[in-house]
Amino acid sequence: MMTKEDLRDTQILVNLSAIKKNVKLIKEFTGPEVAVMAVIKANGYGCGAAAIAPTLIESGVNCLAVATLTEALELKEVNPSYPVFILGYTPDRLLHYIVEKDIIQTVFSLEQVKLLNDIAAEHQKTVKVHIKVDTGFHRLGKEPSPEYAEEICQMFKMENVQIEGIFSHLALVNDEENEKQFTLFCDFIKDLENKGCHFKYKHIADSIATIDYPHYHMNMVRPGALLYGMRGFHKGFIPVEQAISFVTAVSQLHEVKKGEGIGYDYLWTAERDSLVATMPFGYADGYPRNLRDKGYIIINGKKAPVIGVICMDQCMVDVTDIPDVTVGTQAVIYGNGDDGSMTIDEASKLAGTNKNDILCRLSARPPRKYITE
Ligand SMILES: *Cc1c(COP(=O)(O)O)cnc(C)c1O
Repeated sequence: MMTKEDLRDTQILVNLSAIKKNVKLIKEFTGPEVAVMAVIKANGYGCGAAAIAPTLIESGVNCLAVATLTEALELKEVNPSYPVFILGYTPDRLLHYIVEKDIIQTVFSLEQVKLLNDIAAEHQKTVKVHIKVDTGFHRLGKEPSPEYAEEICQMFKMENVQIEGIFSHLALVNDEENEKQFTLFCDFIKDLENKGCHFKYKHIADSIATIDYPHYHMNMVRPGALLYGMRGFHKGFIPVEQAISFVTAVSQLHEVKKGEGIGYDYLWTAERDSLVATMPFGYADGYPRNLRDKGYIIINGKKAPVIGVICMDQCMVDVTDIPDVTVGTQAVIYGNGDDGSMTIDEASKLAGTNKNDILCRLSARPPRKYITE
């Protein structure tokens, strides 16, 4: 019996040992006083959230974080008792799910906390929340003000709501702006603590801030990209390892005569007699369509440039200079770079975007294969 992943040559390989090692490195870097909220939104940055959750939990993270209720419900399905935090907004009409499934929710209004309190009381439960403070990003949360402080003090009076944490998010503009945001956040917390509002968890650092600004760790960090081995930092460094690779195998070979075009609109024409390999991956698998004439894959240890328009399910590469390519020859689309393969970092630069975008656009279609070293 074939396993599901073997039903297709184009596969995403997820190295669970690398994820485990990355968590260990993060924990060593942040120290025992700092809790780790592992961000696995967007299907675990392409890795498959439910599939990697057990590895993260075993590695000793304190909580899993997602962006949406749908993502939280998916994780609760497999792991009902493990803490799952929603970083985003959940509309009032869906709050009963938060209570029923014991999800931890981001909040920033007294009205919502009252609603949660009522629903929790009905269920004879306590619901946990973290308060979002807008220190400049202007995405979610309210700005520090006496009014917001008063609102938060009122939240603490709700019997069936446990205010577990307070957090903010950095815009990462530059050192000065980061410091301004951080100071604003700390001053607001101090003010709240003077009013008797105390928080178990205080957090502001994503992956980049975790490494570049150790003094922003507070007592919890929220790394996402870092777990998957992305090195997006500018000042600090820890040797995290890319956990994802993307592989495929040749479908067909074409001998293309000098002057002939290939693909839609014949946007690539052969400048010499060429050997062109058709590969069974395309933009529907999450390969950026704008990597035409920029991307390359590794076949038999050599670079094969992606040529012509990248189709939905297939693309063509030039293998004229690569010996021994046949149908079924394996190839690396994204790798860790050791074999000359394109890393997620390089793919993001060539595609004019960031690493998280490259990871999370990997679609549901390619089977994920989980490997341990
Ligand atoms: C996505 C997200 C993170 C993790 O971001 P990375 O850059 O992947 O580390 C942290 N905090 C919030 C609020 C987020 O939305």
